[in-house]
Amino acid sequence: MIHDSILDTIGRTPIVRINRLAPAGVEMYVKLEAFNPMSSVKDRLAHAIILDAEQRGILKPGQTVVEATSGNTGIALAMVCAAKGYPFVAFMADSFSIERRKLMRMLGAKVILTPAAERAVGMIARAKAYSEKHGAFYTEQFDNPANPAYHRNTTGPEILQDFAGRRLNWFVSGWGTGGTLTGVGQMLRLARPEVEIVTCEPAVAAMLAGKEWNPHKIQGWTPNIIPSVLDRSVYQYNLPVADDMARDVARQLASKEGIFTGVSGGGTFAAALEIAHTHAKEGDVILAMLPDTGERYLSTFLFEGINEGTDEDRKEAVMGALTLYLDFINLFIFLLRLLGGRRN
Ligand code: PMP
Repeated sequence: MIHDSILDTIGRTPIVRINRLAPAGVEMYVKLEAFNPMSSVKDRLAHAIILDAEQRGILKPGQTVVEATSGNTGIALAMVCAAKGYPFVAFMADSFSIERRKLMRMLGAKVILTPAAERAVGMIARAKAYSEKHGAFYTEQFDNPANPAYHRNTTGPEILQDFAGRRLNWFVSGWGTGGTLTGVGQMLRLARPEVEIVTCEPAVAAMLAGKEWNPHKIQGWTPNIIPSVLDRSVYQYNLPVADDMARDVARQLASKEGIFTGVSGGGTFAAALEIAHTHAKEGDVILAMLPDTGERYLSTFLFEGINEGTDEDRKEAVMGALTLYLDFINLFIFLLRLLGGRRN
């Protein structure tokens, strides 16, 4: 397949059946946003915001683009800006993973770190102040209606097309900006009103459930604000997910299904499993969004305790070394005999 630009490869991500983790009698599917060019759902948002700004004439050729980002948005915007020739500056809390910063810089972006203690609000305030000072275009992912609109126009219709003529009972998505949940949710409510919409959020920061925000480990989920683009009327269920549960389920998806997703993907699938076990009826079909790839979390608790050394059995290793040693001794004896034989 030949494309005119990397941007033409955004979207149309595959939906894959879960074969080993789904309980009997329930069909489970995941939509793999890691198949986007920079491996996350945020490629859609980045493309949406830049296209919309160009069409409305508020982004001029060569103008700098600025965003406050938890990483994936920055990586996606860096890719879109690189492809379109805009300089890009990302403001990012210093608690997010190192690989995210490096990826952005690799894509030609400038990364300005903000103290984690200032939370999302501090990151956003600094990005806004910078864009005002430098006459840059601030993309406002948390308030930009182009974000859910793009999901209404792409992610939602992709799901409708893939499930046309097939049963679909549950759709599960976490929220960061709320773009995915809002856009897909609104589309499904219109076209497939029988589908129950489920959202999920960190147990320690369950803001939609009216709880207090606390720092959590599910990167990309639930900043300490409820974004204006998030439509709170779109979901029927909201499940809390513990950080460790999100990590453990991401690991299970990798080791039991070969599906490599990040912590928020693990969290979303943990919520989908809870629906499968407690709410779903016989024959129900569940679809969960997996926002990105596990590879973006190499330096985080997702990979904690994963061995860096050899997995070779110690006993086997000692026996191997011993055999090698005996082989050398035999060779030595053989050579001695050979030499001795010659002298005689
Ligand atoms: N998970 C990850 C890893 C993300 O980067 C994001 C986006 N911040 C989300 C989930 C949530 O997606 P949305 O912004 O569409 O709510």
